[in-house]
Amino acid sequence: MSRRILLTGAAGFLGSHLAHRLLADGNEVLGVDNFVTGSRENAAWLQSEPGFSFREHDVSQPLFVEGPIQAVLHFASAASPVDYLELPIQTLKVGSLGTHNMLGVARVKGARFLLASTSEVYGDPDVHPQVEEYWGNVNPVGPRGVYDEAKRFAEALSMAYHRVHEIPVRIARIFNTYGPRMRPGDGRVVSNFLVQALRGDPLTVYGDGEQTRSFCYVDDLVDGLLRLLDSDHAGPVNLGNPVEYTVLQLAEAVLELVGATSEIQHRPLPEDDPKVRQPDITKARKLLGWEPKIGLEEGLERTIPYFRELVERQGARARPLA
Ligand code: NAD
Ligand code: UDP
Repeated sequence: MSRRILLTGAAGFLGSHLAHRLLADGNEVLGVDNFVTGSRENAAWLQSEPGFSFREHDVSQPLFVEGPIQAVLHFASAASPVDYLELPIQTLKVGSLGTHNMLGVARVKGARFLLASTSEVYGDPDVHPQVEEYWGNVNPVGPRGVYDEAKRFAEALSMAYHRVHEIPVRIARIFNTYGPRMRPGDGRVVSNFLVQALRGDPLTVYGDGEQTRSFCYVDDLVDGLLRLLDSDHAGPVNLGNPVEYTVLQLAEAVLELVGATSEIQHRPLPEDDPKVRQPDITKARKLLGWEPKIGLEEGLERTIPYFRELVERQGARARPLA
């Protein structure tokens, strides 16, 4: 069924992949972005595809859209810790005011609403792996609180609209996802390590590198998101790859696949950096018939050519914390 879909954050990493897939499935996509962490190249590339239109707009401000909209996918928000630590107030605003504005659009249009929430709602978790029923361990006044609490508020507001206005809301709790079209300087661990290895620079491992993350390839995630959108379940539903790695194991995998001999350089662990993170995806398996298919090695192999091009042609650099 062809739909007209409003997608915020369309010029970002996940937004550009989602838009591409939605267009390929025959939908029309109205992308909205203010480029605070997104790229004009992504928007320009999408504009060459039939069915895509674009509005440059800060969704923390009200948005008025002409014509029908069947689904609102709210993906606008800085997502890399380096980005949201630099943009604390914008991050709180897009998660709160931006979510309110986009729920308002969904309400007037009678559209369903998909929220890009995050594993960060679990904070530094003391339940492992993380199940959706776990309420989390977030420091509201720490530096990461700007992102975590914005997303927790966004979930609460979405559920309030669901209960009060009966909007079909879907909440995806997305775990670390990587792939082509990440900004090389977005500061996240996969982009930093790949760019550093391709340049022959040291890989910056924060702390002892024993903290864990579970990395999902972007195509798997997009598939899960679209299944959730079209399901009957409000969620929240964890979407991520349940295979857990230490940061040091990730560094070793990157070095091997790139064929680099960069050294490992330890740097201080950022404040409130979660010690472990791994999704329990029982719900996604049961409710959506979904699980990731692409392992870390294959996902990195698919991602390396994109970063290699940026490093070799444009001299791209990583953005590690000092
Ligand atoms: P990204 O930084 O690449 O993309 C975010 C996009 O949102 C950018 O294009 C940015 O310019 C746009 N944006 C930010 N504030 C805006 C505003 N006020 N108005 C309009 N546009 C705005 O990040 P991403 O990895 O693509 O993340 C997309 C969404 O998915 C975010 O909501 C993020 O919290 C969520 N998420 C991502 C991951 C992941 O691993 N990639 C994990 C959990 C949650
Ligand atoms: N990290 C690291 N080196 C880097 C970037 C990140 O060791 O250059 C670590 C970071 O401390 C965290 C993990 O990698 O433990 C994942 O960080 P990322 O910024 O990708 O996202 P997070 O999962 O913390 O939101």
